[in-house]
Amino acid sequence: MFSNLQDNLDAAFKNLSGDGKLTEINVATSVKAIRRALVDADVNYKIAKSFTDKVKEEALGKRNVLKSVRPGDLMVKIVQDELVELMGGQSVGINIKANPGIVLIAGLQGSGKTTFTGKLSRHLKNKRNKKVMVIACDVYRPAAINQLAVVAEQVGVDIYKEMDNKNPVEIALNGIAEAKKGKYDVVIVDTAGRLAVDEEMMTEIAAVKEAIQPTETLFVVDSMTGQDAVNTAKAFNDRINYDGVVLTKLDGDTRGGAALSIKYTVGKPIKFISMGEKMDTLDIFHPDRMAQRILGMGDIISLVEKAQEDFDEKEAKRLEKKIRKNQFDFNDFLKQLAQIRKMGNLKSLIGMIPGMGKIAKDIDIDDNAFNKIEAIILSMTPEERGNPGVINGSRKKRIAKGSGNRVEEINQFLRQFEQMRKMMFQMSKMQAGGGNMRMPN
Ligand code: GDP
Repeated sequence: MFSNLQDNLDAAFKNLSGDGKLTEINVATSVKAIRRALVDADVNYKIAKSFTDKVKEEALGKRNVLKSVRPGDLMVKIVQDELVELMGGQSVGINIKANPGIVLIAGLQGSGKTTFTGKLSRHLKNKRNKKVMVIACDVYRPAAINQLAVVAEQVGVDIYKEMDNKNPVEIALNGIAEAKKGKYDVVIVDTAGRLAVDEEMMTEIAAVKEAIQPTETLFVVDSMTGQDAVNTAKAFNDRINYDGVVLTKLDGDTRGGAALSIKYTVGKPIKFISMGEKMDTLDIFHPDRMAQRILGMGDIISLVEKAQEDFDEKEAKRLEKKIRKNQFDFNDFLKQLAQIRKMGNLKSLIGMIPGMGKIAKDIDIDDNAFNKIEAIILSMTPEERGNPGVINGSRKKRIAKGSGNRVEEINQFLRQFEQMRKMMFQMSKMQAGGGNMRMPN
């Protein structure tokens, strides 16, 4: 995400690194490079121009006040502040205060509405203890209703659907009546999308909105469509005046133009971002953290939050003991892999570590690498997993065959495991004095 923008901005700041102070000339050069970087990231020229005008004004205004700050650092700080501003300043929550709170989901077909509905349901249920019902209002595609049913089951919330009713307003109202009876805290109404903006769809969604009076209307859009995403966001807002935007598929968006332009163009905040197909992560959009990511500073706060969500104190203590005794085995390793998987896409996790954004971009991190390791461990007998020392030549052959690998690959994996174990053991000895070693979860 944002990898080219990051590189190009970096180059723009480097322009200044040899200079002693900011001058009209070096600011102009730098600002021009920043503008080009933004346009390359698919930010509309007008927005890029207005952005860099502000940066220029700030830079020239501050250069005499903050004389001790190096020009490059000052520029980074100014750009960071302006990026935060461009993306809306503060993060904005959703309103679900009613009985029930009603969230209406709108967007084009394939934008990620159903997936997001699942993520939001899971989040409200697990993190905020809400009783959630989803209502299936896509009357054109029975497959869409079934897909929502699958998602609802996956995250453990109830669904209201009427397979034979073709009137979305009726379905939504019936569903809400049911939710009132069942004392649900929140309903999420998933609506039908089309492949492109059309009048019929707009009329329908506007009618649903008018009838159910949602406490929150969210517009879902695929960030990979760049400027189109911004235009669609504008078209929907002109018609249904939504409260916030959900930007999906940021995991595949390398440019980032939509994230940077939507607030400016539409005047509505991005409230959530989606970075994967799995149900397990819902990311609240924080303009400041996003700006840090864009500038390659990482997003350590989100990373720590993610880790904490899945942190199991008891399990950590148990592991700590085993490591201290040098007894960390393949069962433990398997559990750790599952833990990391739960946190989401590996590349995006590494990108959140300060300084690692650029590195993560260049290395090819294949989440499937885990599959290979898991296959190897799963081909071991319980005895081998609990006691790696017993794995001899004939066992290696069997494991290789069972997991579809060559014996050399098994050897290599066992060597790496042994090294890792030794390193953890030594680290635990070094820290034993301090007493509170934490497993790198
Ligand atoms: P809908 O038609 O708007 O309900 O869209 P869906 O929720 O069915 O999503 C369309 C496709 O995009 C599906 O294949 C999803 O798995 C995928 N998808 C949704 N959100 C994301 C995301 O954040 N990242 C990626 N990579 N894929 C996503």
